[in-house]
Amino acid sequence: MNGEDRSETCDVMIVGAGMAGMAAALFAAQRGLTVVQIGLAGEINFASGMLDLLAVHPVAAGRVWADPWAAMARLCADEPQHPYARLTPAAIHEAMSGFMGFLERTGYPYVTHGTTNLEMITPAGTVKTTYAVPHTMRHGTRALADGRPCLLVDFNGLKGYSARQIAMGLAPRWPSLRTVRLDFPGIGGELYPERMARSLELADARRKLARAIQPHLGDAAAVGLPAVLSVSSTLQALADLQDALRVPVFEIPTMLPAVTGLRLREGCEQHLPAMGVRAHYQQRVLRVRHLPEGGWLFDAGDQAVARRIRSRAAILCSGRFFSHGLHAERTGIRETIFGLPVTQPARRSDWHHWDLLHAPGHPINRAGVPVDSRFRPVDDSSQPVYPDLFAAGSILAHQDWVRQKCGSGLAIATAWGAVGACQAFID
Ligand SMILES: Cc1cc2nc3c(=O)[nH]c(=O)nc-3n(C[C@H](O)[C@H](O)[C@H](O)COP(=O)(O)OP(=O)(O)OC[C@H]3O[C@@H](n4cnc5c(N)ncnc54)[C@H](O)[C@@H]3O)c2cc1C
Repeated sequence: MNGEDRSETCDVMIVGAGMAGMAAALFAAQRGLTVVQIGLAGEINFASGMLDLLAVHPVAAGRVWADPWAAMARLCADEPQHPYARLTPAAIHEAMSGFMGFLERTGYPYVTHGTTNLEMITPAGTVKTTYAVPHTMRHGTRALADGRPCLLVDFNGLKGYSARQIAMGLAPRWPSLRTVRLDFPGIGGELYPERMARSLELADARRKLARAIQPHLGDAAAVGLPAVLSVSSTLQALADLQDALRVPVFEIPTMLPAVTGLRLREGCEQHLPAMGVRAHYQQRVLRVRHLPEGGWLFDAGDQAVARRIRSRAAILCSGRFFSHGLHAERTGIRETIFGLPVTQPARRSDWHHWDLLHAPGHPINRAGVPVDSRFRPVDDSSQPVYPDLFAAGSILAHQDWVRQKCGSGLAIATAWGAVGACQAFID
């Protein structure tokens, strides 16, 4: 390490800045722990904006549940090693409400249908079952539910988003959908959702957009737009459009990476430091050492070591293969930072089923770091590898968040569990 001394100390080091890392940093700060957080954006950049809690169980049967809590009870009975089985429903509920409460304070509230799942439109023209959606999608879930006449708008130059395709996909269920393709006010050529959203931070751009839509309204009782209604002023942008058009307006997620993920990331990156989290979002952990007296010493930076952090405990939220928390090699799957044991198929040839669409999923998708009831990574004899290391999020073993439709819920709930156990250790 060169130049000025960049040593820091803290109660807990959060390794990762995806959904689990952000939630863990939030919950730890709320509990009064001193927190350092290191990690790049991770999968949060790809978030559709929908917060899945649990929609499918059993995966092999593809059963979709309207009630995620009933699904969870069945899942935990059938799969007692699933990370959700380490938590009570009350704790999971508290975690979700706590995280959504935080998002509301960042100016980007989420809505649920009470305790049941809701249905939302996807950019492919299908319907997805999820638990919570950004407030900008609220009227979309309602319009889909009651099938009211609705106008879907898309824009010349916006690739990967077709109002017509969405309407055709939904036609059997929602025949009263109409579509229109417009020029996006003020931007020509190829359109990128982030640029469109940044332009709609300005009231004048919103007025022009409403004026472009107005002549096409007809009998539409609601208007659906791609998710570009600003990055940081969604409440105002939505209100302005609805005032101008005099009908409810809603967003439909665009293809990924999407503004919906950017909003979550920017909201967390701006508001967590304000709560005392010392965040280094352009860096990663390069080396880590467990200290003989307990606690951890981390070297972090971009390429070279830029800071050294000493912490009493650590929470690992480094994600799976995409985010480099896990690495697949010829000899097996490796946890990349602490060298933790990874639950995985015995042989590489067993990672995937020969049938790509194998209904129960591929064994590799359930590989990951096994934890005990206090979210401490464990060895082959189910003993904690370290007393002061906890893990949360998609890196955990015995879950298949993609097929179970539980990505964000699992990240947030296990972060809650890991932080609670970490605080109990520190106290
Ligand atoms: C395409 C896509 C669509 C999705 N859609 C949905 C959806 O509609 N609904 C839903 O609920 N969920 C969705 N998800 C899932 C959800 O985003 C993930 O399940 C969830 O974000 C997992 O969070 P995580 O924090 O555990 O891991 P990740 O988001 O993968 O984050 C891992 C973090 O660890 C960090 N890291 C790795 N190595 C290091 C290191 N050496 N040092 C420091 N940091 C490190 C990374 O930089 C990153 O910040 C989607 C995910 C993807 C990829």
